[in-house]
Amino acid sequence: ETLKRLIIVAYRLPFSIKQTKDGVTLFQNSGGLVSAVLSMAERISQSSDENVPKIHWIGHCDNHLKTIHQSAFENEHFVAHPVFVDDDVHQAFYEGFCNDLIWPLFHYFPSYASFQENYFDAYKQVNTRFLEELTSIIEPGDLVWIHDSQLMLLPEMLRQAVPDATIGYFFHIPFPTYEIIKLLPRAWRQALISGILGADVVGFHTTDYVQHFMQNVSEVLALPIIDQRVVLANRSVSVGDFPISIDFTKFNERSQDESVLETRAQYQQLLRVNKIIISVDRLDYAKGITYRLQGYERFLLQNPGWRNKVTFVMTVVPSRDKIGHYQEIKREIEETVGRINGLFGTIGWRPIVYSYLSLTFTELLSMYTACDVALITPIRDGMNLVCKEFVASRWDNRGVLILSELAGAAQELPDALIINPTDTQEVATAIKNALTMLPDEQALRMKKMRQHLQNHNVFRWSHNFLAAFAASGENQRSDL
Ligand code: UDP
Repeated sequence: ETLKRLIIVAYRLPFSIKQTKDGVTLFQNSGGLVSAVLSMAERISQSSDENVPKIHWIGHCDNHLKTIHQSAFENEHFVAHPVFVDDDVHQAFYEGFCNDLIWPLFHYFPSYASFQENYFDAYKQVNTRFLEELTSIIEPGDLVWIHDSQLMLLPEMLRQAVPDATIGYFFHIPFPTYEIIKLLPRAWRQALISGILGADVVGFHTTDYVQHFMQNVSEVLALPIIDQRVVLANRSVSVGDFPISIDFTKFNERSQDESVLETRAQYQQLLRVNKIIISVDRLDYAKGITYRLQGYERFLLQNPGWRNKVTFVMTVVPSRDKIGHYQEIKREIEETVGRINGLFGTIGWRPIVYSYLSLTFTELLSMYTACDVALITPIRDGMNLVCKEFVASRWDNRGVLILSELAGAAQELPDALIINPTDTQEVATAIKNALTMLPDEQALRMKKMRQHLQNHNVFRWSHNFLAAFAASGENQRSDL
């Protein structure tokens, strides 16, 4: 039996494409979804079975690459099919509908959301462009796995074009309650919910998001729900929680590399303090960075004995900084860092070492392993992979994770010090408790979290989700 072909459809391609003298060069991207599927692809390409087909991937591609006139780009792991969209439509779709409406709304920042009619028109157009590319390559028996909030209309579009397609849809950000979805114009929210229901299986990170989605299905479309299934006229849609994860072994092993150990030692030497706190996040108002700084400030105020003895190394990875709200939050972060460093810093000691840059993988692992505390405090985060990566990198069973209860990951990691990020006193107390936690307790907590992630790794995630929708598609069609 030949194995089924998998088509991933996601806004972003798994690599960036650069035009060079000799043609094109492909640079592998990183980030949540790509590393998840890449780990799966690496396993496929390592397998000795030659019947295993490469993973196909449909994603958006910048228009200046149109001149290359290539309908697909291939590397060792993927065959990528580019989707080109006119610049003005893309702008209204991506900067507009996706990042100026859906992102803030679904992260419970409704006052940041902008409801422009042309945004939704562009959203429909771009989903249609993805459909065109998809229908041009799809073959009977393919598994189509559609990803994330940029493509909510696509599952239903594909269901109409190819009624017997096997479709899985995974949603990577929080799915909010009806009270939030209700802010969307009626026609939009109906189109979005019924768009998603074109899939055979719909996945979210947590049971909360599943419940919210189900609530919206009843409120917006008045469809019946039996157990975990939405019942439609001639088929049903299974909805479940599939918490995304990381390649545990990769983080565990690579964090013991010689280069990481060296860089880690360098960091510790450069800082010349006994304790290091770190945080790593993309620039985003949902990451709770200002509250985190206020919690740290409160800790320094209340514990003068810790001054000079601890440094908070805060890395913010550049993201969406052309958008107004992102520029605002960046300014706010930088002012707060400056203020706290001015208030407590001395010639020999900076309380906060702040950088606005991307880290290499070695730097990231060195950061994870050099620190005593990881301080991860989003106000809202679909999952948060950074905290899982931190835990997986701690082969020494040391270090303390302070984690916001508003990150999806908190559901899986009760052995972290769980805090509410807006409660800056709770954050300050957690910092103190983390810094003074005895090694035995650190190890106890770390071991439990590591065990969980070793079992619930990204292979299990993709395998479970694929298995769920591959089976579901077949069962349904054979039932008819
Ligand atoms: N990361 C990165 N560049 C960096 C630092 C981190 O790409 O300079 C990665 C990090 O390893 C993690 C991802 O970015 O895999 C962030 O995922 P997360 O779920 O924590 O947050 P998101 O950015 O998706 O909101």
